[in-house]
Amino acid sequence: MLSFIYMNHSIWEKQSFLSYDFIVVGAGIMGLSVAFELRQKYPQSSIVILERGLLPLGASTKNAGFACFGSPTELLHDINLMGESAAIHLVAERIEGLRILEERLGKEKIGKSELPGYELIFKNELHQEVLDNLNKSCYSIFNTAMYKDVTDKINSFGFGDNVKQLLECKQEFQIDSGMMMHNYKNLVQQHNIEIINGAEVVDVDHGKVSVSSSLGIIDLKAAHVFLCTNAFVNQLLPQVEVVPGRGQVIVTKPISNLSVKGSFHFDEGFYYFRNVGDRLLFGGGRNLDFKNEESSEFSSNPTIIEDLIHKIDTIIFPNTAYEIDYSWQGIMGFSSSKLPQVIKVDAKTTYAMACNGMGVALSPFIAKKLIAEL
Ligand SMILES: Cc1cc2nc3c(=O)[nH]c(=O)nc-3n(C[C@H](O)[C@H](O)[C@H](O)COP(=O)(O)OP(=O)(O)OC[C@H]3O[C@@H](n4cnc5c(N)ncnc54)[C@H](O)[C@@H]3O)c2cc1C
Repeated sequence: MLSFIYMNHSIWEKQSFLSYDFIVVGAGIMGLSVAFELRQKYPQSSIVILERGLLPLGASTKNAGFACFGSPTELLHDINLMGESAAIHLVAERIEGLRILEERLGKEKIGKSELPGYELIFKNELHQEVLDNLNKSCYSIFNTAMYKDVTDKINSFGFGDNVKQLLECKQEFQIDSGMMMHNYKNLVQQHNIEIINGAEVVDVDHGKVSVSSSLGIIDLKAAHVFLCTNAFVNQLLPQVEVVPGRGQVIVTKPISNLSVKGSFHFDEGFYYFRNVGDRLLFGGGRNLDFKNEESSEFSSNPTIIEDLIHKIDTIIFPNTAYEIDYSWQGIMGFSSSKLPQVIKVDAKTTYAMACNGMGVALSPFIAKKLIAEL
């Protein structure tokens, strides 16, 4: 009778593929940022990123490509929710995150376009005094007033006459999310960080990571595991209080003489639109159907899509012919406090999420802080 154990893995696989210093789960902007910071701090360590999709399958390549940190009405909402000091602190962290991203990859590789950001106001115009107070609170961030009333520019964009006020933020800019993520992935790989796609993690327990594969479940080991799975965390850790929020996005076919250039928001950030070349990208409307959009399924919501189209016809392009080309969805993660979540799950597992629809800006900052404090 044979007395040795049968193993699924060869000696070579066991030596080189199944054990790492660090495993990062999720190849979105948070996963890439955490892995990059780990490499800076531990140059000799072995690091792997496990990603369930062939492409990242969450928010990072499906967002609107806004490098934003809070429109005036959104900031006023946050001040109400968490107090002035916490809300302004969050704005400063988002700006720092964007600075880190740009410094790390360079302007070209994030597809930076310097077109400013704007907020459209319909009924309750913001009095100059409210704007002045906001500018005063944020003054130390840029040493200049962040928000300016440019209502005289409304006509130049061709908006409907329901738009009563326009506020500008020159410090906002646009990025090309696809280009940024592609170049970020390349940068991480150049730093000797392995990325394995098609690796769905089904369990994490004190440094043991179980991955679903065509050969069944494969267990990997790490000294520390970072879960950067954003809105999908509950599939691994049901106890974490993060709620998914789906974002619907539509894009038009190219429009000749497109007048809308820049990044635009309205309704406390619930709606956002921009030009992508000569197309219009328009997204949002979760607030119309919170219940159904609290979902991590990638599917369309006809009520919201109809509302987006209605808003194009009545607010954005009352006088411009256009055709919708296609639509998609991205899944965001939300916490009730609107604050980033860094949760030590066990001695060898940490969950990190920048959250609340501003993760492009926040993730590089949160990752830097997390690894510096490790
Ligand atoms: C429509 C839309 C508009 C947005 N607009 C902006 C904006 O203007 N400004 C801004 O700053 N942010 C914006 N965001 C938010 C921003 O995109 C996100 O906060 C950010 O991309 C989150 O990055 P992440 O890496 O944490 O998560 P994700 O990009 O969601 O990445 C998580 C990754 O984990 C993987 N994963 C999940 N579970 C597993 C598992 N079990 N095993 C293996 N892999 C797994 C997923 O496939 C995914 O690739 C927007 C998001 C959307 C959807």
